[in-house]
Parts: sequence; structure tokens; C-alpha cells
Amino acid sequence: MPFLGAFHGLFASNMAYLRPNYTILASMSTGSDSFKDIVAHSKEYGYVFPSSEIYDGLGAVYDYGPYGSELKKNIRDYWWKAMVHANDDVVGLDSAIFMNPRTWKASGHVDNFNDPLIDNKDSKKRYRADVLIEEHIEKYRLKIEKDVEKGRVKFGDSFDESQFRATNVNVLRNKAKITEIETQFEACMSTGNLSGVKKLIEDLEIVCPESGTKNWTDVRQFNLMFSTQMGSVADDSGLIYLRPETAQGIFVNFLNVQKSSRRKVPFGIAQTGKAFRNEIVARQFLFRMKEFEQMEMQFFVRPGTEMEWYQHWKQKRMNWHLSLGTRPDKYRFHDHINLAHYANAAVDIEFDFPIGFKEVEGIHSRTDFDLRRHEAESGRKLRYFDPEISESYIPYVVETSLGLDRMFLLLLSDAFCTENLHQEGQDSERTVLKLAPIVAPIKLAILPLVKKDGLAEMAEKVFDDLRFDFSCQYDDKDAIGRRYRRQDAIGTPFCITIDYESLRDESVTLRYRDSMEQRRIKLAALKENIQEELNVAKMLRSI
Ligand code: ATP
Repeated sequence: MPFLGAFHGLFASNMAYLRPNYTILASMSTGSDSFKDIVAHSKEYGYVFPSSEIYDGLGAVYDYGPYGSELKKNIRDYWWKAMVHANDDVVGLDSAIFMNPRTWKASGHVDNFNDPLIDNKDSKKRYRADVLIEEHIEKYRLKIEKDVEKGRVKFGDSFDESQFRATNVNVLRNKAKITEIETQFEACMSTGNLSGVKKLIEDLEIVCPESGTKNWTDVRQFNLMFSTQMGSVADDSGLIYLRPETAQGIFVNFLNVQKSSRRKVPFGIAQTGKAFRNEIVARQFLFRMKEFEQMEMQFFVRPGTEMEWYQHWKQKRMNWHLSLGTRPDKYRFHDHINLAHYANAAVDIEFDFPIGFKEVEGIHSRTDFDLRRHEAESGRKLRYFDPEISESYIPYVVETSLGLDRMFLLLLSDAFCTENLHQEGQDSERTVLKLAPIVAPIKLAILPLVKKDGLAEMAEKVFDDLRFDFSCQYDDKDAIGRRYRRQDAIGTPFCITIDYESLRDESVTLRYRDSMEQRRIKLAALKENIQEELNVAKMLRSI
């Protein structure tokens, strides 16, 4: 009989509240200064390490440590459940990283997957021209938000935000400026006018963040795909690419999946996997890596119905993000005004990272561009016969594309905070990762108050009984307060302490990470209580 079962029926599952040990005086979330703290914390607690660090690392490449690999896996699993298991019309795929190089010719990556780069001659630093311009635009967005806030304070309860945004002179001026810059930039990029991009940077008086000067080189295009050699002959015939996105593996398998899983359009194919981009400007930790993981879904629809599906997935994806308990005011949609020639709608889900609002996920209505290109390049028909309208067509595609590492960084940024605490006349501080329990690497820590008098043995038995139900950690080193701090820093949502009373009445103290509230709970009720806290079905139904 499992250990907990021995208690079952002996004790009622009622819980008694205990006085929290500490009062939280102040909670400080992340700001731009704390980005460094997050990086340091990630290393100290085994979340993320620089790759091959003993050789001084490798730029923009990272390894995930014991807790990091758990968090990453939990995010991936939650995405998979939400996309594949929770939707009857979505199936999974796991396609290879290497693909026939003609794939990348057809998709346009060989010719067009470029970043416009510019160097500052004084600092010798290299930047993406589009990022410099986007960051300049962000300043106008911030001005708009400041004006809106001022309006809110000035007009109080009678404040009508949408009217203010539509009529306030300052807001309108800044909006117009944004549109003007975006239009000029897109016009240059779509015509390959790189000297126009440089002129725009000069006209906007953008300075290098390092040197503070406007001493720029010309803008050059740089292809982001990594290539290597397949086979033993080192000539162009063996040239092969590391995939820069997972999506193309889905497109080329469209008919295989549709036929083998007997799917009718509309349906989607989802997959997660590594992607590689030779990002030259990569100085933002997990935000921009050379080797990273994507979680993508291509939803194939009848032409003409794509806008409905686009709206559907736009909302559903935002709901997924919010279901993880992240703060809604930290998210925003950023609609693309100037669309790529093959897209008829596109939006980014942006998050307010410590480095500002940035894209975490893209939702794109890509028309039939990719399938049509693959049809032309391969000479194979990639069409679907729709029995409902007795017509054969190339389906349109709505894609959702999320970076797993960026999502990881998002959750860390949202969860990381330091708190000032007060206890019996003494102040102290704790660092805590307030991760959603469902993604937290360790769900439950089992802590004997002391090692002696049979407490450790009892705790070990509890650990042994629960370890296969959710990830648990047993810890009996150091004073109990220090062990709580350690679990807070790892992000463990629940701790139980086994004390002398536990020996007498088989109850334990259940401590909640965020509130630090403690409850006395019967051991027999513990598993059920934690399982309820980790109820993934409830979360999935809320999406
Ligand atoms: P960005 O403009 O930031 O370079 P993108 O528009 O090129 O991103 P997509 O090609 O749409 O990005 O890729 C989809 C998602 O993959 C992005 O929203 C992001 O979360 C993730 N992603 C893309 N490039 C990287 C990278 N270098 N490192 C980490 N994640 C990435």
C-alpha cells in the first residue's frame, strides 16, 4: 500500500490556517536594471548557463540546467496540450532539422532571409537597422502612453480612453510620426533600397547606444541561414541548411499528414523543434539566440475563410498566454501595418520584457504562398479536394509561431521579484520566482523540520509516495527558513514541513510560495490538494 494510503480514512482532510511567518512589505518586479539580475539568477539556480562556458562560451548560445530544462519542458508540454490535445482539428508532427535544400529555395529563405545590418564606426558595434528604427518608434509609443496616462489623471472618472486616443493632438501627432517612419522603412525594404534605410537612420538622428555617435556605415543585407555539408564531397552539391524555422517541415508534409490522419480542411499541424539563425546582433540573453526552439502551428483553411480563422487563433493564442497567470497589462497586440507580399494579415503578441515591449509570438495569415511555392518547385500537386464544395484548391494557411526560449524568458521576467519582508521586528529580503505551478520545475518540496527523531524518515516516505505524481524535492539541509528561501528562488509553489506534530497526528504544514501563507493539512488530503492546484484541464478549458 502506498504511504499516503496508510493515512487514508484515518484523518479528515480539513485544514487549519496558520499565521504567516512574514509580512510582505514591498514587492519589486523586474525593471530594465533587473535584466542582469535575471541572467545571474538563472545561472546561480541552474536555469540557464552560457554554452561551453569553460572555453569562454559561444555568443548567443545557451544551455539549460536542471531547473531550466524542466521549465522548458513544462512550457512545451503545456503548449502541446493546448494546441494538439485540446483541439480536435490539430494534429502533431516531428519533422527533421535537415531538409532537401530546394525547400529553402522554394520558401524564399535562400534569396530573402536577410537582416539589414549597419555598423557604428566609432564603437565598432553592429546593429540590425530595422531594430534601431523600431526602437526609435517605440519612443513615440511611450510618449503616447504617457499622454494617455496624463489624460486619465486629468479627467478622472469621465475619461474616455478611445476618444482621447482618437482626438488628442499630441497623440495624433505621435501616431502620424510612427506611421510616417514605418511607411518609409517598408518602402525602402520592399524595393531593396538600403541607402534609403541608412538615410532614414540619419534623418531620425539615431545614435549608437554605445558610442552615442551617428557615424554609421552603409546598410548591408546578411543571410541568416547556417549551412553545412552533407556527405563526403565538399562542393556545392552537398550544401545543406540547418532549418531557420520549423514551419517548412509542416508545409512539405501537408498531404502526408492530411491523408494519413484522414483530415478534412480546416485542420492544423503543430510541431515543436530546434531552429537556427545566424543572428549577428544577439546580445539579449534568451531573447535572440542562434540555436533556439520554436512551437509552430499551421492551420489549413478553405480560401476566403482565412480571416475568421485568423481572428480565432489570434484570440486563442492570447488566452493561452493569459492562462499562465501572466499580467494582462504586460501584453499587447501589435498589428503589422505594412504586410509582406504573401500575407493578408499579421500580428505580433508582444510582452513588456525588462528590455521593453517585444515580440514573443507571431500570428500570420500567409495565404497559399508556401504551398504554392512548394508545388511549383517540386512539381507535385499540393491540393486538397473539398467534398463540400466539390472543388480542388491549395489551402490558405493561418500560422501561430511562438519561440520557446523567448516564452521561457517571458515567464522568468514575469515571475522574478524581490520582496522586503518583516518578521518580529526584523526586516529581510527574499528573491522569488512566482511561476505558474503548472510550469514550475519543482511542484512540491518536502522538508523535515529537523533530521532527527524520525522526522526525516517520515518525510522520505512522503517523498517516495508522491514523487511519481508530480516533481518533488526532498531537502533536509540547513534551517527551515533557508530551505524555504531556496525553494522560493527556484520557484517551487508548495512546500510541506514535517514536524513533531506530524508524528502525532499525521498532519503537515503546507506553505504557499507567493503569499507565504501556511496551512495545517492532513497528510491523507495532501496529494488531492496539490493535484487540484495543478489542474491542467481547468486551465485548458479557460483558453
Ligand atoms: P524577430 O523580429 O524578433 O527577429 P521574427 O519576426 O524574425 O522575430 P519569426 O520568424 O516570426 O520571428 O519567428 C517566430 C518566433 O520565433 C518569434 O516570435 C520568436 O518568439 C521566435 N524567435 C525568432 N527568432 C529567434 C531567435 N533568434 N531567438 C529566440 N527566439 C526567436
